[in-house]
Amino acid sequence: MIQGKIIKGIAGFYYVKANETIYECSARGVFRKQDLSLLIGDDVEIEIEHKQSLRGEYKTAIIQKILPRRNKMVRPPVANVDQAVIVFSINYPKPNLDLLDRFLILVQEQGIEASICINKIDIDDKEEYITIKNIYSKIGYTVILTSAVENQGIDLLRNYLKNKTSFFAGNSGVGKSTLLNAIQPSLGLETGALSEKIKRGKHTTRHVELMPLEIGGYVLDTPGFSSVSIDHIEADDLKNYFKEFQSYESACKFVGCSHIHEPGCRVKDAVAQGDIHPRRHEGYVTMYNQLKDIRRW
Ligand code: GDP
Ligand code: ZN
Repeated sequence: MIQGKIIKGIAGFYYVKANETIYECSARGVFRKQDLSLLIGDDVEIEIEHKQSLRGEYKTAIIQKILPRRNKMVRPPVANVDQAVIVFSINYPKPNLDLLDRFLILVQEQGIEASICINKIDIDDKEEYITIKNIYSKIGYTVILTSAVENQGIDLLRNYLKNKTSFFAGNSGVGKSTLLNAIQPSLGLETGALSEKIKRGKHTTRHVELMPLEIGGYVLDTPGFSSVSIDHIEADDLKNYFKEFQSYESACKFVGCSHIHEPGCRVKDAVAQGDIHPRRHEGYVTMYNQLKDIRRW
């Protein structure tokens, strides 16, 4: 038996990378009986069959055992993801920090560490990226500045991905594919104008797939979240996703303080003193009120 990782699933077969080989695997009957569904990203033990697959492209094997999962992401469904890199560009398209905050919430909600990549810094003549980097590094996020076309920050990003399973999230056109190609040219991902990709997208069914990196590790190949709606989150839980509130809230006067209107709120004090960025707190209040409205309905 050897150990490997499920990197994709197509038409009832699982493709497992073990050492440097990819095996076309079927699952042992017991998984079906016990309703143990296998996920992309699962670490498994396989037994090699010493046969070729139908078209002769792969060696075949049988999945005998799933190793314990470290975590399980729901959207998209993938196991054992170590980190998410939220990519946005400083221009074309312009950064949408409200969207970034929603991405951060959704990633953290799934128990996955989030970091931020600001791409296309070559076209930021005002160096706005420095302001954004400062806001988010102060909170405690890793922020990586890159230019995929001018090869800036690529070594840093590559190092960050090394030996980890990473999820690249971010809007279309921010440069995710260009960045991944810069990290590893052999990936040969399609890049380019938004409209062309959308046209092509209509004819291709997207499936979740882990792309192995030569330096070790995997990157999840997906267009990102299908939606950035946080409507399923309870308003009162929202504060837990704002990391910078955490060190203040135990000192708030009221237990369960929502950090919005209560007297003696240390989070609001920290905003007033400039220790918490006002834009983040404003964003929090807006989202909180939206979520409260949904519940009352
Ligand atoms: P994706 O949809 O996030 O995968 O974005 P793409 O990788 O397809 O890139 C979208 C467009 O942005 C392409 O035309 C790229 O050439 C361009 N692009 C990507 N990275 C950079 C960068 O660092 N600087 C500049 N100026 N353009 C970039
Ligand atoms: Zn408070």
